Amino acid sequence: MTPLRHTLNHHVMAVGESPIRRLFEIAADPSIISFAGGHPAPELFDVDGLAAAYAHVFATDGPRAMQYGSTDGEPEMREAAARRLQEANVPASAAEVMVTSGSQQGLGLVAQALFNPGDVVLVENPTYMSALQAFAVQGVELKALDGDEAGLVPEALAAAIEMWNPKAVYLIPTFQNPTGISMPASRRQQIADVLADSDVWLIEDDPYAELRFTDDVLTPISADPRLDDRSLLLGSLSKVLSPGVRVGWIRCPDEEARERIGVTKQATALQTSTVDQLAAAHYLATHNMEEVLAPVRAEYQARMLTLVEELSQVLPAGSVMNQPAGGMFVWARLPVGFDTQALVFEAAQAGVLYVPGPPFYVADPDPRTLRFSFVSNGVERTREGVRRLAAVLGTESTL
Ligand code: PMP
Repeated sequence: MTPLRHTLNHHVMAVGESPIRRLFEIAADPSIISFAGGHPAPELFDVDGLAAAYAHVFATDGPRAMQYGSTDGEPEMREAAARRLQEANVPASAAEVMVTSGSQQGLGLVAQALFNPGDVVLVENPTYMSALQAFAVQGVELKALDGDEAGLVPEALAAAIEMWNPKAVYLIPTFQNPTGISMPASRRQQIADVLADSDVWLIEDDPYAELRFTDDVLTPISADPRLDDRSLLLGSLSKVLSPGVRVGWIRCPDEEARERIGVTKQATALQTSTVDQLAAAHYLATHNMEEVLAPVRAEYQARMLTLVEELSQVLPAGSVMNQPAGGMFVWARLPVGFDTQALVFEAAQAGVLYVPGPPFYVADPDPRTLRFSFVSNGVERTREGVRRLAAVLGTESTL
């Protein structure tokens, strides 16, 4: 045989696998209590409601549901996405919306349509690691932005734009993954001011906003009309309806960018599943999501409060953690000397999992940080999981 002389794409070769996906393999063991994955609680899924939506679609529009559909998305789903955005104070129209197969596809499409190898992309540090993957496979250079307890620091953004001449900035302003931080309205305004004065694209990822524990609706930064020619707002039904359905969207007011993202989608996926879009759109048209989400929010809040209370009793003295106002994650930092990546194997042996913090960083990874998802386990299992963790941390005597 002739040895193969061709190499794989070198940008792709340089990107590592998501360490979280590795942990999922361990988490599949039912005896392990996993705080690792951001998996919505399956017992809270509206299985009957979604099954009825699929049944309705097959009964009334079966052949269409089973046929190829348009790249931009079925009109019903584009309308439904625009309505959800309007409820979040974003002046969106269906024409501005492209449906995607989850927001992860949205991140990939945006990266392909926007980035050339060598472009600089600014990201929060830490941030969602599969966004980093989606960007890195395009061969971009990722630069870290400083944040504080209110999220990205606007002066740091302005300085980074000045210094790096970046193509884009990627932000998760509401219930950030992994930190759980939400930027207050004033901070969003300052960031919009900085971006309006620049020529930098805003990629705003917003899958968690509806999992809020208060009535405070946080308006996306992209709602600012000054950013219409440079904002890409990504949404998803994964956290509020079902991640298995794989329906999300990109709101892109700029026509040329939208068209280019459309070409990219044609090239990679043709379209998002027709039947999934029609079923999801029917579900949204026939349900009041505030009512659907009320018990989910209440249960998630109870689980979050349990986790925070239990952790506060077992994390070693000198640890810090946040108490998020929504979303799925609690972020913590252990005292000097701890290494959460080494500890996670001991934790798995003790029957509990979390995600070590370092892979979420693009610069200066903090080995003492770790992320807990509070949504996947009920209150009792959460307590038991923290008891197991205490044994690993050597703090069970404080219980
Ligand atoms: N963005 C963020 C910040 C996420 O946490 C996730 C899921 N973990 C996604 C995007 C992708 O979600 P999906 O593709 O299911 O919409």
